[in-house]
Amino acid sequence: MEDRKVLLEVKDLKTYFVGRHETVKAVNGVSFTLYEGDSFGLVGESGCGKSQTLRSILGLLKQPGRIVGGQILFRGKDLVRMSPKQMREIRGAQIAQIFQEPMTALNPVLPIRKQIYEAFERSGLSKAEREAKSVEMMKLVGIPEPEKRLGEYPHQFSGGMRQRAMIAIALAEHPALLLADEPTTALDVTIQDQILTLIEQLKGEMGMSLIMVTHNLGVIAQMCNRVAVMYAGRIVEMTDTVTLFSKPRHPYTKALMNSIPNGKQDQLETISGTPPNLSMEIVGCPFAPRCRYAEGACFTTLPGLREIEPGHLTRCHRLDVVEQFTGLIPAEEELHG
Ligand code: ADP
Ligand code: MG
Repeated sequence: MEDRKVLLEVKDLKTYFVGRHETVKAVNGVSFTLYEGDSFGLVGESGCGKSQTLRSILGLLKQPGRIVGGQILFRGKDLVRMSPKQMREIRGAQIAQIFQEPMTALNPVLPIRKQIYEAFERSGLSKAEREAKSVEMMKLVGIPEPEKRLGEYPHQFSGGMRQRAMIAIALAEHPALLLADEPTTALDVTIQDQILTLIEQLKGEMGMSLIMVTHNLGVIAQMCNRVAVMYAGRIVEMTDTVTLFSKPRHPYTKALMNSIPNGKQDQLETISGTPPNLSMEIVGCPFAPRCRYAEGACFTTLPGLREIEPGHLTRCHRLDVVEQFTGLIPAEEELHG
């Protein structure tokens, strides 16, 4: 495992939205390593900093967002320090992104052909070569009648086909890293499954690495070999996917798991409350107000991210107590009774 090559190393990344009246600490000291061939998942509820972590990697933050600290080493080079021109050369060619809503990535007034052609712009290919490659990409992502459909506009495609077209464009230059931000969240379940299977298949065929952002632990289970659970702009637990599902340690991870059906729970529980507002000063553990185990230090001191077993990191003051409860959520009387 140790001889695998590191592709991306995110070190203490801090991405803030610095406004006139408030600063939103969207990503607040995130670190992780992605090895070549890895599928790494970032999971957590809405507003926890997953998308801004991805956008930071691509250098595509919206105003007034900016990286205020840390490094993003891609093949050893720090993306944070690259010029916009250098980033444009990396985007698409080496790192590509797909989104939840393909219409934000596709241009509604251009036929798909033009949009795939654009991806080959810097390749120096002739028109005939571009056409051949475009047809090849359309076939690769499973769009039938590619020659005909290349002439159509995005609105003529169904949701699933649009997602496939976006994937074709994103992967046209054979990037080494694909960043996928909730790519199937807007699709219905059967189409969702087809797109995830397609991404997995293309990842294997093209030898890519993947970072998958999702609020859905089922997607993580299906797609990722390693996973980080994010809460309030920070990683609260990180380990391999098998361990996360068999031995979740952080109360937030356990609560997330209890909110998806696995056939074992007597009842599903949504996590009460919401993640904190990231423009407010947070004292103590950000999850404490929603945590059944929280006590004392949880309300005064931020727990550090500690390695509790090789490769398994978590951020919690009350792990010894959490350990004693094998169920995902202890009954109130078990804890305090
Ligand atoms: P998610 O985990 O749902 O992908 P995001 O990474 O999009 O969450 O958001 C993290 C935080 O950044 C949220 O608190 C969100 O409100 C904030 N944020 C996102 N975009 C902006 C913006 N343009 N201006 C200010 N805050 C923003
Ligand atoms: Mg998001």
